[in-house]
Amino acid sequence: MSERKVRVRFAPSPTGALHIGGVRTALYNYLFAKQHGGDLVFRIEDTDSNRFVPGAEEYIIESFKWLGIKFDEGVSFGGNYGPYRQSERRDIYKKYVDQLLDAGKAYIAFDTPEELDAKRAEIKNFQYDAHTRMQMRNSLAMPKEEVEALIADGKQYVVRFLIQPGEEIHVNDMIRGDVVIKSDILDDKVLYKSADELPTYHLANIVDDHLMEISHVIRGEEWLPSAPLHVLLYRAFGWEDTMPRFAHLPLLLKPDGKGKLSKRDGDRLGFPVFPLEWHDPKTGDVSNGFRESGYFPEAVINFLALLGWNPGTEQELFSLQELVEQFDITKCSKAGARFDYQKGIWFNHEYILRKSNEEIAELFAPIVAGNGVDESMERITKVVSMMKDRVSFVKELWPLCSFFFIAPTEYDEKTVRKRWKADSAVVMGELADVIEGIDDFSLENQEKVVLAWVESKGYKLGDVMNAFRLALVGIGKGPGMFDITAFLGKEETLKRLRKAIEVLK
Ligand code: GLU
Repeated sequence: MSERKVRVRFAPSPTGALHIGGVRTALYNYLFAKQHGGDLVFRIEDTDSNRFVPGAEEYIIESFKWLGIKFDEGVSFGGNYGPYRQSERRDIYKKYVDQLLDAGKAYIAFDTPEELDAKRAEIKNFQYDAHTRMQMRNSLAMPKEEVEALIADGKQYVVRFLIQPGEEIHVNDMIRGDVVIKSDILDDKVLYKSADELPTYHLANIVDDHLMEISHVIRGEEWLPSAPLHVLLYRAFGWEDTMPRFAHLPLLLKPDGKGKLSKRDGDRLGFPVFPLEWHDPKTGDVSNGFRESGYFPEAVINFLALLGWNPGTEQELFSLQELVEQFDITKCSKAGARFDYQKGIWFNHEYILRKSNEEIAELFAPIVAGNGVDESMERITKVVSMMKDRVSFVKELWPLCSFFFIAPTEYDEKTVRKRWKADSAVVMGELADVIEGIDDFSLENQEKVVLAWVESKGYKLGDVMNAFRLALVGIGKGPGMFDITAFLGKEETLKRLRKAIEVLK
């Protein structure tokens, strides 16, 4: 068999906000497609109308746009294999359901939900399969005429897949190897419902993967139990030769404790689990998003790429292109990946450092303006250059940097008690005179002059600088004193010094 063109798909059901685990699934599909020169298809699996949530599809598309994950074809992207929304493919599925029925590989069942419940009450661990199907109301157990009469009568029915017991089913998984299960544990899955004339997930998924020429199915571990059934369906249709290779990705686990990551973990520990803010149309609830929390899309991608895969080296920072080059699906872990959100914050910090001061200043400028400060881009960029290594998010800059733009109106009490000594007012008065006399107000020159003065007076440098900082910043923290004075300029520095002397003396 010649090598197939790599074609993978991300196939969400539009049932709400896209969970961050789904984003990772899409990312791994993207990386795999790009590194093989293949295509990534975006398919919407909306055959379960009960679970449809308006706005979810648009939300998913916008999420990937923000993240920079590009699809080659699919819903909203076009392509030659459409339509890509399953609800628009009813006729296609019906044809394949009939094909299985005609071949005796599926059958019609009339059991009502009540009848099924009664059976479950009667038989412990009831399963619709080789042991029980002849006791049920279906086309295998009933005379042909009765079946036809019921259908003619408009009675609702489902089509079930006929599973033969006693078989071993092999799922060849790129991460997990040869996964073997016995067909006996499977039930005769419903493939189609006459009530809404729609197939179930399993049938639509297989038919579309086949028709869209999907070569590899990369999806979350939660779909592993469906894989044997999917293998059997491929076989029932006679499509073994083009059966995709599977890869079931490890679960994302809670940051603490056991079990899989949930939205509640995010609420409890204060981190987002959705790419974008999500407004639930039913409950009105608003859930936080990575975008709105101030994460850079590149940081989110980098963080997610390493949840379940690692390059086997020390490298942690990867551009999307580097990930395309280095990602290896066969090296994904089988065990769940802990969702270490602190690491996500660390990644954002690293991306702040790597972005230019100008780029961060562009993002910071509206915050500065929003606080009523009118500053030039140049000066905002200067502040960013001094302060960005102290933050993980742009929004953290303002509380740390506001003193550059606005003189303190009060002085932190604790710092005053500790740093403003009995002689501070006098010493600061002298310092003001020294500063007044400096003509070349460059950082280097000021530093030289002030330090020479401190030494000539025999003052303790720490004491002088602490009081000086308190006067200019209002608290005991901040960047280097001469960075601050050089930025403020002589006039503003003197103003702040004299004001502090007056207030604190
Ligand atoms: N519609 C399924 C989902 O929501 C697709 C699973 C698969 O990729 O086969 O994840």
